[in-house]
Amino acid sequence: MSKNKSEADKILSILFPQKCASCGCYLGKENESDDILLAHFLCKNCAPRLIRAEGKNYDLPHHGYENVAIPLCYDGAGKDAMLRLKFALDIGSVPFLANEVEREIRTKFYGVKFDTFTCVPATKLSLSKRGFNQSQLIAERVGIDVPYDFSLLTKDESTGVQHKLGAAARRLNIENAYSLSPGRDVVGKTILIVDDILTTGATLDACSRALRLAGARAVYAACAMTAIQ
Ligand SMILES: [Zn+2]
Repeated sequence: MSKNKSEADKILSILFPQKCASCGCYLGKENESDDILLAHFLCKNCAPRLIRAEGKNYDLPHHGYENVAIPLCYDGAGKDAMLRLKFALDIGSVPFLANEVEREIRTKFYGVKFDTFTCVPATKLSLSKRGFNQSQLIAERVGIDVPYDFSLLTKDESTGVQHKLGAAARRLNIENAYSLSPGRDVVGKTILIVDDILTTGATLDACSRALRLAGARAVYAACAMTAIQ
């Protein structure tokens, strides 16, 4: 993002002051990060606490997707930004997370031609509790030139809350939880799917499986963060 704000951006930033995605403090010239990639998103205190996933091994065996792009670790300032979104229901961290995901997709999947861009769906129950699907919010702000369909997959309503389960129970619970939504056709297509956090890989595996069973040629994934150390 450019450091030179347009007039419209200046007015918008006065009406809706930008907050740090991690700690929520208001950002101004005096306290925003000096890092050009993080300015407008993180404050000077939080930016050094950001832990990037680059160089970390988050590749899981036997996954159903071709590859996964992940910019951040679920730790430090990134984790705080995700907690703000998922549990404090503060969507102010979405532009930061989406910006990170977009950059990683552009770098890691350079040259890959995607046919459809989608996200991991939520159940109606979790949508009604939280009010939004955080994976979709992030995906909606990712600016790539690919036709999107954020309702491509449907999640079975009976799958419950994943993060309270252990790895084996989570995988069993989630294995058949996703299916192609009615009226969709993915035959021969290359799909890019966005999720919030890679924990065990079970969710992305299940989504990839559903897409491949429906005839997709290949599935690529992107997550804002990895919880795998
Ligand atoms: Zn901060």
